[in-house]
Amino acid sequence: VVALGMPTKSVVTTCAYCGVGCGFKTEVKGEQVVRMTPWKDGQANDGHSCVKGRFAWGYATHKDRITKPMVRERITDPWREVSWDEAIAHAASEFKRIQARHGHDAVGGITSSRCTNEEAYLVQKLIRAAFGNNNVDTCARVCHSPTGYGLGQTFGTSAGTQTFKSVEQSDVIMVIGANPTDAHPVFASRMKKRLREGAKLIVVDPRRTDLVASPHVAADFHLQLRPGTNVALVTALAHVIVTEGLLDELFIAERCEDRSFRQWREFVARADNSPEATEAVTGVPAREVRGAARLYATGGNAAIYYGLGVTEHAQGSTMVMGIANLAMATGNVGREGVGVNPLRGQNNVQGSCDMGSFPHELPGYRHVSDSTVRAEFEAAWGVALSAEPGLRIPNMFDAALEGSFKGLYVQGEDIVQSDPNTQHVTEALSRLECLVVQDIFLNETAKYAHVFLPGSSFLEKDGTFTNAERRISRVRKVMKPLGGLADWEVTVKLAEALGYPMPYAHPSQVMDEIARLTPSFRGVSYAKLDKLGSVQWPCNEDTAEAGTPTMHVDGFVRGKGRFVITQYVATAEKVTRRFPLVLTTGRILSQYNVGAQTRRTDNNRWHDEDRLEIHPHDAEERGLREGDWVGITSRAGETVLRAVLSERMQPGVVYTTFHFPESGANVITTDSSDWATNCPEYKVTAVQVSKVAQP
Ligand code: SF4
Repeated sequence: VVALGMPTKSVVTTCAYCGVGCGFKTEVKGEQVVRMTPWKDGQANDGHSCVKGRFAWGYATHKDRITKPMVRERITDPWREVSWDEAIAHAASEFKRIQARHGHDAVGGITSSRCTNEEAYLVQKLIRAAFGNNNVDTCARVCHSPTGYGLGQTFGTSAGTQTFKSVEQSDVIMVIGANPTDAHPVFASRMKKRLREGAKLIVVDPRRTDLVASPHVAADFHLQLRPGTNVALVTALAHVIVTEGLLDELFIAERCEDRSFRQWREFVARADNSPEATEAVTGVPAREVRGAARLYATGGNAAIYYGLGVTEHAQGSTMVMGIANLAMATGNVGREGVGVNPLRGQNNVQGSCDMGSFPHELPGYRHVSDSTVRAEFEAAWGVALSAEPGLRIPNMFDAALEGSFKGLYVQGEDIVQSDPNTQHVTEALSRLECLVVQDIFLNETAKYAHVFLPGSSFLEKDGTFTNAERRISRVRKVMKPLGGLADWEVTVKLAEALGYPMPYAHPSQVMDEIARLTPSFRGVSYAKLDKLGSVQWPCNEDTAEAGTPTMHVDGFVRGKGRFVITQYVATAEKVTRRFPLVLTTGRILSQYNVGAQTRRTDNNRWHDEDRLEIHPHDAEERGLREGDWVGITSRAGETVLRAVLSERMQPGVVYTTFHFPESGANVITTDSSDWATNCPEYKVTAVQVSKVAQP
């Protein structure tokens, strides 16, 4: 503030980092942001914030920002700066040429969980209405797509059941495959406060995260399972609940399908699903599993919070359904202090999924084959829509390699750094005839692009984000887009150049259309958001005008809750003599995802490289000392990192983050993915680690 001068106005907006969605006051002098302070009336954060949201906004005006559109014929050519009109016209004519030559399905697009709801809605509308296919996907493909599938199958909708505040009513908190201290810090503080007040804690994680034991918090149970064995463990927990008579029979009788419950009960009661029988698979002592199951089922209000350690597995969707089974079996759904809560990684993962970013779903999670729903959109959009589900991101890569997919529009997502098996991704992208990248920085994906369209940061546009608790909050413009256009305006121009005008004058008009066409967003308007501060969907005027803090109160969205059998299947990604260790990946507090934003801020002072955490026993076997450089080799590739010896790891398991392109953690992750959604199995990669010279 001293350097930049005193602010002249302040604008309330929403943090653009994690899925907590904290409200902030952005203090501005002219067009210059002076500082961001947590908004005391922010309903997701109650005036709190973390090191990312509060201090790491400087990337918005970083010198690396690209503000001029650029084109080139081949990806080996230098970029040529052009006008917006020329760049858009070039992109549109290339997409049209490709469709004329290779067919309608040869092009597609990817929406961004960092962009607003309105922007994700417009990109999927462009793909469906202007391209004429359903080849649209989102970065949720690589994080929470199993949540969409799993909670849809069991509860009927793809969303967390509670508010963050609900944790204040929990007596037992089970955290599975999540490290909120690093990835969702403001929620972690709220949860730790409740733990200090006496709530019990069960942590299910291969790593000894700080929740397990830190100065003020200690887990009552740490189920330190082997990576890839989640489903065996959740089924063993269910086994204890069923065989020890800990079921909530009344809740099940009133709220759940009888047939699916009986089949599930018979399955989990089998002796081969007992904690004793599965101990050799999970590595978790049976007595610990029994103790945790009893605590969860009988300890009062019990809530589950989970992260990507649940979803990013070959059985990610199965595990989500296993968690939903536990909650239904014990009656822990439909009131404060309980529930099933996915902790979403990016600021608008929930929203981008809500907006129809999946190739099989129109906005509001309605299948493209539903002719009634399609007719509604056809009437509103004035075009015929395809009833065929489109390509998922990995299918787009495969089709590009086969030669049937030739053009891609990517908004606000660095798929080269974030998607698994980098070699496969880059080979596919280099086969495209037209790759259009829209981003604020020249990211790794842009190396394979033919058109670069400057993106706009969250400070440069109006819109909304939806956080992990379904809370829709306003994003408000505090400065002009550095490139001259906000992301939504670029998509509108591209659609027009493709021959499908989308004449919106302001994002509020886009939201009005979303609210008309999307049942879960019915009742949402900028006027309502300005009045209430934020609102949790559903918030329609008939039943819940002020929003819905707790879902499934009187009945599940699908009617009766559905139990699903969770048969454990060992992942194909096996450890061998050649690859004897299991690598699992995650995040750290000061950096965010691929680091494109936080690496360009002072947050780099705390953490300026990805490192490999390895247990001292594994390090000793390899002659490694703290700080040594190590080569990590998998079936997919190899990379080099510096080693950190850590008792947080269990022997046989190593860990790294994916924030830095130089180390490229995804060079070593494989194509293995969730059976239902293709979410990559980032959490299990068989590797070898050995000492190397400094690169
Ligand atoms: Fe932003 Fe998440 Fe930190 Fe809140 S907890 S300030 S939303 S990064």
